[in-house]
Amino acid sequence: MKTYDLIVIGAGPAGYQAALEGAKNGFSVALIERKEVGGTCLNSGCIPTKTLLETAKVYKKMTEHERYAVQCNGEIKIDREGLIKRKEDVIFKLREGLRMLLLGAGIEIIRGEAKLQEGKRVLISGRNGDEGKDVIIADKIIIASGSSELVPDVVGKEYMKGSTEVLELDSIPKSVCIVGGGVIGMEFAHFYSSIGCEVKVIEALPDILCNVDRQLLQTFKNITSGAYDVNVECIVKAVRKKGDCFEVVYEDGESEKTLTTDMVIAAVGRRACTENLGLNDVGILHDDKGFILVDENFETNVKGIYAAGDVIGGIMLAHKAFDEGIKASYSALSDNGCEHVKKTIPQCIYTEPEIAYAGIGEEIETNKKVKGYCNLASNGRSLASGADSGMVKVIADAENGQILGIHMIGENVTEIIGSAVYAIDGEFTVDEVAEFIMPHPTVSEAVREAARDCKSKMERS
Ligand SMILES: Cc1cc2nc3c(=O)[nH]c(=O)nc-3n(C[C@H](O)[C@H](O)[C@H](O)COP(=O)(O)OP(=O)(O)OC[C@H]3O[C@@H](n4cnc5c(N)ncnc54)[C@H](O)[C@@H]3O)c2cc1C
Repeated sequence: MKTYDLIVIGAGPAGYQAALEGAKNGFSVALIERKEVGGTCLNSGCIPTKTLLETAKVYKKMTEHERYAVQCNGEIKIDREGLIKRKEDVIFKLREGLRMLLLGAGIEIIRGEAKLQEGKRVLISGRNGDEGKDVIIADKIIIASGSSELVPDVVGKEYMKGSTEVLELDSIPKSVCIVGGGVIGMEFAHFYSSIGCEVKVIEALPDILCNVDRQLLQTFKNITSGAYDVNVECIVKAVRKKGDCFEVVYEDGESEKTLTTDMVIAAVGRRACTENLGLNDVGILHDDKGFILVDENFETNVKGIYAAGDVIGGIMLAHKAFDEGIKASYSALSDNGCEHVKKTIPQCIYTEPEIAYAGIGEEIETNKKVKGYCNLASNGRSLASGADSGMVKVIADAENGQILGIHMIGENVTEIIGSAVYAIDGEFTVDEVAEFIMPHPTVSEAVREAARDCKSKMERS
């Protein structure tokens, strides 16, 4: 039975970062993955969706060519096969780069399905394509098995496509019904509406994008008005096949309604990938949705077994998983535990306009706050790029001016939200940010302007 210092289960962002951190510090590491290295993020999440959204952006700009003083007389249409190839090429390049990085670090990548056994053993089924089973053992184990999509438990749920299936792009439908108006649902809504599909979103909650600052959300709704039909406080009851189409039956609180569509997408959340891991066999505690319970060092209740990434729940984002993977590995292999510094997790929504935020929003009760704004209609770069709708909002502590939150809506704001993380975690004040020299013309100037607005409001109060 081969022995390692560390076994990592799952080669997504949490798992591969955990493995790299272990190998970097000289430990022997086995990384077990049942599908492809890169996990959901690289193969069926962040990367393929953003590749598709880039095509949607180009398509939309081309359909608006006259606004940009470009003449185009030919037909503008989506090349579905070309799009699939482009997506696969991007994934392949990143995946091969990652594989080389892992192998170069001396990590043993094992293809197969992992299951925990007593005594820090891991049973691997289908190892590297074989029928047989193998058992390996380690001092420490990190579970980074991620999450998978939830499909609502309704009659006809088999007619709904999850995000992974949607990304295969079997067809480009004329109409789409998206069940769920969260981040993934709205990114799909944006993709399909941009390429000319009729999009209906059905959301059970009182609003879409429920974690977004209300003021930004209202701006988003104003800008996207007419792009998609959003139905909130509606519960899907059933999906029926009707010829080549589907009927979605939903309740809007008063009555039952039906809509007909070419494709139904389920984007209602994700569940932990723990069902076949053997958690109960080795006594690892998890909640009723399968999310593994860990302490502040990412250790489970079973000593020497850690977990990180989507599988422990909370905010499910790749950059959170990267960070947790590194910390879990450090905790597991250093015996010192990890450093407990509260970090800001920025959030991005790659719709058009994009939304990005970090830190607190207005709904969080804290000391007295002051808010500063910069409207992107006065931002030179935004006007030049034809996307002049949007804003940057800075929220600061009214007593000492410390920046608590930065919220942005507009073109490419996801590219500059990183600066909000520096400002918040670096504990900068509005006075300091108001004096940083930002390059011109860029959207980042709006952050300084919003900080200046905060500063002058504080001076006036
Ligand atoms: C459509 C979509 C779009 C997204 N877009 C973004 C985005 O823009 N930005 C962002 O930050 N996040 C995004 N996410 C979320 C992001 O993909 C996840 O938060 C991230 O992948 C979590 O990383 P992880 O390592 O915890 O898990 P995963 O990436 O899910 O990796 C877990 C790996 O473990 C493997 N595994 C599971 N069980 C076993 C087993 N028993 N044996 C062996 N291997 C196993 C799985 O095959 C998988 O490869 C998106 C997700 C989706 C679905």
